[in-house]
Amino acid sequence: MKFIFADSQDFVDPGYDFEKDAYSKDRVLQRTDRYPHEMFEKKPYDGMLVSRAILADGVYKTAGAYSIMQSQRFKREGASRFLRYSNGPIFGDSGAFSYAKLEKPPYNNEEMVEYYMQCGFTHAVSVDHIIFEYDPRFDNENDDFVVSDDMKSRYDITLHNAKEFIRISKDKEALFEPIGAVQAWSPKSMQEASKSLVEMGYKYIGIGGLVPLDVDQCEEIIAAVRKAIPKEIKIHLFGFAKAKQLHRFVKYDITSFDSTSPLIRAFKDSKFNYYSPKEHYTAIRVPSSDGTAALKRKISSGLLSQEYAQKMEKESLNAIRSYDRGEISREEALSKVISYEKLFKDKIPEERYRQVLEAKYWKTCQCEICKDVGVEVAIFRNSNRNRRRGFHNLWQFMRELDELLEGQNK
Ligand SMILES: [Zn+2]
Repeated sequence: MKFIFADSQDFVDPGYDFEKDAYSKDRVLQRTDRYPHEMFEKKPYDGMLVSRAILADGVYKTAGAYSIMQSQRFKREGASRFLRYSNGPIFGDSGAFSYAKLEKPPYNNEEMVEYYMQCGFTHAVSVDHIIFEYDPRFDNENDDFVVSDDMKSRYDITLHNAKEFIRISKDKEALFEPIGAVQAWSPKSMQEASKSLVEMGYKYIGIGGLVPLDVDQCEEIIAAVRKAIPKEIKIHLFGFAKAKQLHRFVKYDITSFDSTSPLIRAFKDSKFNYYSPKEHYTAIRVPSSDGTAALKRKISSGLLSQEYAQKMEKESLNAIRSYDRGEISREEALSKVISYEKLFKDKIPEERYRQVLEAKYWKTCQCEICKDVGVEVAIFRNSNRNRRRGFHNLWQFMRELDELLEGQNK
């Protein structure tokens, strides 16, 4: 079960100055920045995935996570050189989520095959169209669960594209391994779609539409698909973020899954955003006083002076660092943190903060990020800290996955 990390331009400035909160002087976006795989000796993932939709190449989008220049360079240099990644497979897909609202996908099969070949992807996914509806009750159609024309059309588009895609890939002697995408609305329709892909000649299929589903629904689908296709057919799970439940899926012989979840949680999850093997801690919020909307409102309405806010912010940061160096007690540090956060927030997770301070996990973590920046990783503040914490989470997640698979002897 390989963990494929979906790129969304997540990198950090290796020379970032945490004291001054400043980028390194000679920083050039992306070029001098570092990806997770450039920060660790032990790999933080088994492979990468780039969705076409994050490129701004004018075919569908003129603005994406990648700039126009970066998109051009990505195509010119190829995925491996652009990402400076050669230690694992690089998957390409179309990014069906981004065009889900359209009646049909904006990419045609011929052009997509050429794009994948040009960029040198090792694995390439057929152009699918998301079906959002999912319920096992669609399998015994009744008045409440009727398969709509739109669902049917998306199902047909996905399979039609898959058929074209594998034919064109063969004609052009593409070097990538084609992956046929599955989109359907129930266990039975997932099975049917998977069987069709195998008949078309796919040896690797990818199940889409799992993102909004809970872990039981995911398992229901995967169990059904696994039963319907030959054992040697490989299965990929798209956007599979059920990290804590992975052990439930080992038995279905999943070849790979992709996720950004461990990284994203570092800044999107307000509670469990700093991973350790035992506990997922809560990083301590010390946002910049100039960048916090609630604080700015108070300052502009005269309730608070800017100088005071800045002073409290600085004291909060200093207190965390002093505590880390053993100069002040946990409670002293905590009181500074809380005094600052109270200026702009009512509910503060005091107990969670106490816990993360007490654990000082950054002192025992073996990852390069924690060893390098120490307590800064546990401060919820701007992208260089938050992304570093995300990298740390990826690294932790990968270690957990390794352990799980070792335990299962796979
Ligand atoms: Zn770490």
